[in-house]
Order: sequence, then structure tokens, then C-alpha cells
Amino acid sequence: MLWILISLFFLWCAFREIRASIVAAPDFNFPTPISKPYLAIVFVLAMLFAWPPVQTWHFQRFLSAKATELADNHRAKVHCNTIFDTMLDAEMLAAGHADPKTGQIAIQHPWCDTLHSYLAHPSRATDDELWSLNLFTHESMHIRGELNEARTECEAVQRDYRAAKLLGVPDTTAKRNALDYYNIGYRHRKQGGIMQLTYYSDECAPGKAMDEHLSDSTWTTR
Ligand SMILES: [Zn+2]
Repeated sequence: MLWILISLFFLWCAFREIRASIVAAPDFNFPTPISKPYLAIVFVLAMLFAWPPVQTWHFQRFLSAKATELADNHRAKVHCNTIFDTMLDAEMLAAGHADPKTGQIAIQHPWCDTLHSYLAHPSRATDDELWSLNLFTHESMHIRGELNEARTECEAVQRDYRAAKLLGVPDTTAKRNALDYYNIGYRHRKQGGIMQLTYYSDECAPGKAMDEHLSDSTWTTR
């Protein structure tokens, strides 16, 4: 919002310059000639400040469409929280949260940026970037209707491969990234505290009770 206001300010400067070149200011007989360098600078500044919010808006729309697909066409609407949104969020300690009744998914600062970085270089994904992919899939599973955290997380790990491909990651990299999260990130939760254990189940494994036997499951070997 702040970026948009700054951008609008520079657009107003440009408008004022153009108006002054057409209409003479009070007490002046002639309009002031337009200053092209000044006009170019304020236009460039207006574009530069408008770029981050436009980029975020575009990314949110992209994530919303992909989350809807992952949630079996339950309509999802992703919002990337700014640092201020996160500070004011009642669930600020969770990296994200979702409401299946409204379809709203909130991703806390800075996890949208982390997901964006992951998509820029998926073959060099860091642990945090893999975590951001699973966060996105996890919240999409809530929109699909699941509220139990262990089941939601297990549905997510089985679909991280599908999610990565939907987000544009090449097939083999998507498979490796999804398996890396399952083998490292997910299993790590078992050693975490009580909070982490609510997301974990020993039954979330190939052939175990939580295996949905998806044809494109993360852990299906082809
Ligand atoms: Zn959850």
C-alpha cells in the first residue's frame, strides 16, 4: 500500500509538470515549457515503486489458481502477508493458515518470498525453500477440507511433487524436491517438540494407513 502511494505521488508530479506546460500558472502569461528529463525521472520512479505491489498481486493470483487445483477445485485465495500484516495477525506464530469456509490462505512474511526464490532455482532448493513449497501444499489441503494437522500434513507430502510441477518446476527436480522434504523436513518433525508432533504420524508412509495411493504421489516409484 505504501509503495502504491509513493508511486501515485510521482505520477501526480508528472501530471503537474504536464499541466504546467499546457495551462499558464496564476500570474504568468505563458505555460512553463515541459522539462523532459524531470518528466522521465518521475515516470521511472512511479514505475519502480509500482513494481513490487504489482509483482505480489500477480504472484498471489498465480498461487490462488494453483492452490485451487490442488484443493480439488475448492476455491482458494492466497494472500502474501506483509511484515505489518503478520504483526497484526492473530496467528502470527504460524507460517500460514487457511480457512476452508472462505477459501482464504494467509502466508506469513517472508514465506511468499521464500517460495518465490524456490521457483527461481528449484534445482538448488534450500531446506527453507522446500519448507515453503510444503507450506503452500499444506494450506491448500486445509482448503480441500481437512482440519486435522497430521492428516493435512500427510496429504501435503504426498502432493508436494504434484504441487511443484503445477508451479512450473521440471518433473525430475519436482520429484527430488518433494522426496527431500518428506525424507528430511517431514521426518525431522518426529524429533521436534509437542507442536511439531501434531504434524507428524508414523502412519504417513508408503503402504501405511495414511497412504492415499495417488497415481502421482511423491513417494510412488516409476
Ligand atoms: Zn495446518
